[in-house]
Amino acid sequence: MIQNSLWLQGFKENKQKPKLEKNKFDICIIGGGIAGMSVAFHLKDSNLEVLLIDQGTIGFGATAYTSAKISYLQELPLSKIASMHGEEASRNYFRSQKEAYDKIKTIIDKYKIDCDYVHTKEYIIAPTEKEIVKLKTEKNYYQKWNIPYFETQSLSLPIPVSYAFGVESAVFHPLKYLYGLKDIMKNKIDILENVCAKNITKNQDIYSIETDIGTIHANYVVVCTHYPFFIKPGYIPFKTHVEKSYVTATHTENTQALSCITTGTPLHSVRYHQDYLIYGSCAHALTNHLDDEKNFGILKKRLQDHFQKKPDYMWFNQDLIPNDGLPFIGETESEHLYLATGFHTWGMTNGTLAGMIIADLILKGNSPYKELFALKRKWNLNRIGHFLVDGSRYGKIYLQTCLIKNPKFYQNHVCVTYENGKRIGIYIDDNGVRHKVLNTCPHMKCHLVFNEKEKTWDCPCHSSRFDIDGNIIRGPSKNSIQFLE
Ligand SMILES: Cc1cc2nc3c(=O)[nH]c(=O)nc-3n(C[C@H](O)[C@H](O)[C@H](O)COP(=O)(O)OP(=O)(O)OC[C@H]3O[C@@H](n4cnc5c(N)ncnc54)[C@H](O)[C@@H]3O)c2cc1C
Repeated sequence: MIQNSLWLQGFKENKQKPKLEKNKFDICIIGGGIAGMSVAFHLKDSNLEVLLIDQGTIGFGATAYTSAKISYLQELPLSKIASMHGEEASRNYFRSQKEAYDKIKTIIDKYKIDCDYVHTKEYIIAPTEKEIVKLKTEKNYYQKWNIPYFETQSLSLPIPVSYAFGVESAVFHPLKYLYGLKDIMKNKIDILENVCAKNITKNQDIYSIETDIGTIHANYVVVCTHYPFFIKPGYIPFKTHVEKSYVTATHTENTQALSCITTGTPLHSVRYHQDYLIYGSCAHALTNHLDDEKNFGILKKRLQDHFQKKPDYMWFNQDLIPNDGLPFIGETESEHLYLATGFHTWGMTNGTLAGMIIADLILKGNSPYKELFALKRKWNLNRIGHFLVDGSRYGKIYLQTCLIKNPKFYQNHVCVTYENGKRIGIYIDDNGVRHKVLNTCPHMKCHLVFNEKEKTWDCPCHSSRFDIDGNIIRGPSKNSIQFLE
């Protein structure tokens, strides 16, 4: 069994640090996941000089760990958005997702991107009678707006189905798609891997992006780093929480052109890729259920119970869930500085949409979705409620990590302790070598928790990850943690 994403098989990590040959550009895009690459793609014919930088290898962030369903049937977004922002906003959200869904297909067809794109039927499933009401409320919007759908009470899947409705949908290989985009942009967009943005400042109308290989100047900056590496502008940590969920890929002879996701708990997510069943489950707020060994154990058991299979690949992913149900795509309060994040586990359409919207905003000064995804949005009671729940989650986990330094699931080779007032994490490897690091995340000072499964120190609040020697693996922290010995 491989403890990594199926999508990374055959893709090589680039470890080479580039040189900064040129440091002035019209536009600098930070982040080369589906969002950043889509922004670059939509700017490629603009005659503007565009640079895209990524702190690692293109596509190796959250996009490499997705299930890669391309769908506008996304659990129950329409009811949620209608309750928070009104029905017109909900309808607009639907339009945006359908447009992005169609756009992906158009790009793939036009440029003949070989990315295992397969047309499927995607269902949302109510496993119990209780869940049916929620599904039917969502379906009412489809009826009202004349969106084609089909319904059923049984599917050829070994998971409980009381009622399901579905739409035409698709799946693909996310990295093959991104590398297809990269090929198309060759000679039009400069792409530099292994360049980490540390800070952005503005002097008159020019932005300076401080990176680990020098400073880059640009008139426009687009931040597509999944979780932004700064708090202001945008204040994203106060408008989102992180959700973590787990995925397996298992060889099967019974593939189908069918995808699904269930409502309620436990979550079951299914799609197929070539001769693999891709099954996901165990979604939870990052602040809860810290024991990954246990979480993967539950995932394995569900796969066994329902499909009588053992996983060939197993991985997890994390995504930002906005507290008012809508992603953040648009200009920040700092003019010409753009942000795209909060895709609430539907980044294939929303990342693509980020490309369309931000390119429109830069090139035309407007987008039909400018208001819908604007970073500055009204607060209402419902949103305040979600904000308070998220806030109490952060408070609870902070307190919990203060009171319990070494949770029961830590094995003998891991220990958190205090030395000279500093919180220290120690991991002893198989050769008996001690790896001692500071145990506080540089981003917002949360205490890090050891991930036994992947041998990393993880932030239980905002999803930064560090290796046993403190080197940063994934932001929002822009810095590593101090290695002590
Ligand atoms: C379990 C799970 C399953 C999912 N399945 C689906 C699905 O089926 N369909 C779907 O539509 N969505 C799905 N999603 C959501 C989707 O995976 C994400 O929303 C999407 O991949 C996010 O793309 P991104 O471009 O914003 O981020 P990323 O892919 O993470 O890209 C951000 C890039 O920025 C770079 N970066 C970060 N910080 C810096 C810095 N300081 N300087 C330079 N570069 C930096 C990173 O290296 C990274 O490459 C799923 C999410 C989860 C949790």
